Amino acid sequence: MHPPLPSRLFSNLDTLPGIGPKNLKLFQKLCGKTILSVLFHLPVAVVNRKKEPFVTIKAMVLKHERPISRKHPYKIHCHTDIGLLDIIFFNYKKDYIIKQLPENTTRIISGQISRFSNHLQMTHPDYIVEEENKSLIPLYEPIYPLTRGLSNKMIQNVLKTALKCIPDFPEWQNEAFLKQQKWESFKNCLIKVHSPVSNQEISPFHPTRMRLAYDELLANQLALALVRQKMRKIKGISLKGSGELIQKLFALLPFHLTEAQKRSFQEIQEDMASSYRMSRLLQGDVGSGKTIVALMAMIKAVESGYQACLMAPTDILIRQHETTLYKWCQPLGISIILLTGREKGEKREKILNKISDGSAQIVIGTHALFQENVVFHKLGLVVIDEQHRFGVEQRLALTQKGIFVDILAMTATPIPRTLALTYYGDMDISKIDEKPPTRKPIDTRVLSVNKMDETIQKLKNAVQKGAQVYWVCPLIEETEKSDLANVKHRFEYLEGKFPGRIGLIHGKMKGYEKDSLMQDFIDKKIDILVATTVIEVGVDVPNATIMIIEQAERFGLSQLHQLRGRIGRGSSQSVCLLLYQTPLSSTAKKRLNIMRQTEDGFIIAEEDLKLRGAGQVLGTQQSGFQAFKLADLEFHTSLLFTARDDVKMILKQDPSLTSPRGEALKNLLYLFNKDAKIKTIHSG
Ligand code: ADP
Ligand code: MG
Repeated sequence: MHPPLPSRLFSNLDTLPGIGPKNLKLFQKLCGKTILSVLFHLPVAVVNRKKEPFVTIKAMVLKHERPISRKHPYKIHCHTDIGLLDIIFFNYKKDYIIKQLPENTTRIISGQISRFSNHLQMTHPDYIVEEENKSLIPLYEPIYPLTRGLSNKMIQNVLKTALKCIPDFPEWQNEAFLKQQKWESFKNCLIKVHSPVSNQEISPFHPTRMRLAYDELLANQLALALVRQKMRKIKGISLKGSGELIQKLFALLPFHLTEAQKRSFQEIQEDMASSYRMSRLLQGDVGSGKTIVALMAMIKAVESGYQACLMAPTDILIRQHETTLYKWCQPLGISIILLTGREKGEKREKILNKISDGSAQIVIGTHALFQENVVFHKLGLVVIDEQHRFGVEQRLALTQKGIFVDILAMTATPIPRTLALTYYGDMDISKIDEKPPTRKPIDTRVLSVNKMDETIQKLKNAVQKGAQVYWVCPLIEETEKSDLANVKHRFEYLEGKFPGRIGLIHGKMKGYEKDSLMQDFIDKKIDILVATTVIEVGVDVPNATIMIIEQAERFGLSQLHQLRGRIGRGSSQSVCLLLYQTPLSSTAKKRLNIMRQTEDGFIIAEEDLKLRGAGQVLGTQQSGFQAFKLADLEFHTSLLFTARDDVKMILKQDPSLTSPRGEALKNLLYLFNKDAKIKTIHSG
């Protein structure tokens, strides 16, 4: 999709007068390096120069008081209508000051004033002009988020010329809708948003902001819908299978599938059987039983004479999947093979051969699987576990590997509706919203870390009765030395209490070390596993019934939920202790209490979204998620739903965007750079 209107907006900022390579870099850091990106950098406040602490006033310059040394400020005594006022400069340029404020002249000055004992001060005035140039001082000024080295004035100056570059785009919004909302054109709104004259105009609900937010959301929804429309049209392989192996699997399963599992598999099966390409997200809380559903899908592919592959983000998870899948596949005579970065040399060659000659029917690996020259004999299905750990771009890159391949993505991060729309809008969604009946509710408690002795005592009792324990310490950044020290320190402390029955696992360890430790835990050679969040994703040890999380206040709710999901998998009652450090703020306490009140991942995710924002909910590793620039989902949720419905209408009437409005909408996509995603799919 090419821009019908070539526009200067995509030129780099250094094509504007007064911007050199150094400033370009600073802008790139702040908001992006194109003219458009600075236009999309919105003010967060507005200064009224008529209102305190800002003062714009006529000053009669009385006397310069030269400081005794450079360490002291330069003072200029002035007379004003509101009394004597000192203008103060630090790190001054003397010549500049003398030129700007000669004695016995009047100047209009504007800046923030403060009262000092009995007199007034203004440090570094924002404006100093001669009386006849008074109009050069803006009475209202937008205030922008800054980065070191870029001042508010520099941004304002750049915007002055940047705003002149906006062409008159043909209107892409529905005219009647615009009228009803009393929204002006895109161009006018951009101009207005950068020249606010009241606090109301900074509000996300101001019509100017609403229009711009809507444009961005519409671009997002339209792009995703186009991708989805394209995917639906891509001829895929029809994986019908005989159902024979699936029937055998059912006979082997020691449990009945939940209704939600059955429904999800039904949806997947239909997609796989159709001659179009599947792109489906399987969403289900931790422990809801996604693995078995994924396995059924893979068996379906195998039954149909194709290979399937399962991709997961960590080695532990991959090895665990291998164990689980092997257990079911072996009696069915399905061959499984593992490929991670660790298989090297001859062994690797052998594996690669089995993948390329088709003797490996199910292949399990990290996403490295797709970055290397792995050639499949006949790949039919790709399952991506813990999809939220991968970015959108990775997901889309996958589609380039083999265009006909069906894709099933899985995530245990319950995604709030708004995020599902903006992030996964290109996929169909199946939801497992029911837990296996064997799972018991978890008893969650929130306690101060000061209760350590009591906790240890209870733990001793429980361990004596055969319980196994996860003890999680925060290590938000694997590089944070102090956190690592804390984990080790805690490990030593606990080792003193439970000698020989305890292990430590963290991200700095080698893969095989982690694995052998996990194996010890599974084999009950150790009772307590002290860990950082490396155990967060997907690990399954049913006998572990106690989860202790230290400094729980430092974790996000979704992360706590994931961690807690590691327990409550067996038949006995599980307990989760959230230990916090005192003092705990009341909001932090409120957050932790949410964990006590519910085990519903969707509710927790909604709360997390409210408290921490989208990037956090989707996980910090998130690479593909790009926050909105003009829209703020905290305020513009209803616009998002309107945009979704709008897009449905648009594509129904004009699926290839050839009507006048359709053509205008292509500009919109181009402006928000959403055509990139569509290109990825095209070139697949
Ligand atoms: P997740 O959705 O977190 O990946 P898993 O697939 O690992 O969950 O399933 C968690 C546990 O529940 C596994 O031990 C699995 O064998 C078991 N399980 C899955 N489905 C059912 C079911 N319908 N009834 C009972 N247990 C089940
Ligand atoms: Mg899982």
